[in-house]
Amino acid sequence: MTTFAVVDAALRTAGLGLADGGARLCLRGNCLCCGQRRAAGRHAGKLHLERMMEAEDTNFMKQALAEAREAGRKGEVPVGAVVVCKGRIVARAHNLTETLTDVTAHAEMQAITAAASALGGKYLTDCTLYVTVEPCVMCAGAIAWAQVARLVFGAADEKRGYRRYAPQALHPKTQVEGGVLADDCAELMKTFFAVRRH
Ligand SMILES: [Zn+2]
Repeated sequence: MTTFAVVDAALRTAGLGLADGGARLCLRGNCLCCGQRRAAGRHAGKLHLERMMEAEDTNFMKQALAEAREAGRKGEVPVGAVVVCKGRIVARAHNLTETLTDVTAHAEMQAITAAASALGGKYLTDCTLYVTVEPCVMCAGAIAWAQVARLVFGAADEKRGYRRYAPQALHPKTQVEGGVLADDCAELMKTFFAVRRH
């Protein structure tokens, strides 16, 4: 997929309504994010859109990080997730495996269930799932079953992440972006496990 196609599809899942070509819309008239007059040229529009998306991903990842911190305060492994549909957060969740005595209560599982409930449908084809750490194989499977349009994760998980064991686990149409606020997300995990070892 071209960069433009990825950006355009992601903008659509973010609810910016640019289905017929985000760059064209951004090039015409004022920019959607900063209100400034767009510089002429398709290339400038593409770069600008990418920056818009980056800013949006960072903002939503901060919300997922807030959920992760909440998990940490409860003595849970600090992983947080939010589900965004058309630019709006429809579900927030964090890891609850200790609280619920349930090994399946990962942040993503909670978030998918909550989002489906909020939207009234089991498929999340218009949604982006933000999670602070790369999903495990179980969660990647759930993300596939839910047909999540886009997955954005923070820190990579070399030991338990799905990419090591099942890189094909996601739905083929799901777009993936890793490394958003990766240092912040990883730091939270490192601190949590360092404190627990003492
Ligand atoms: Zn998981």
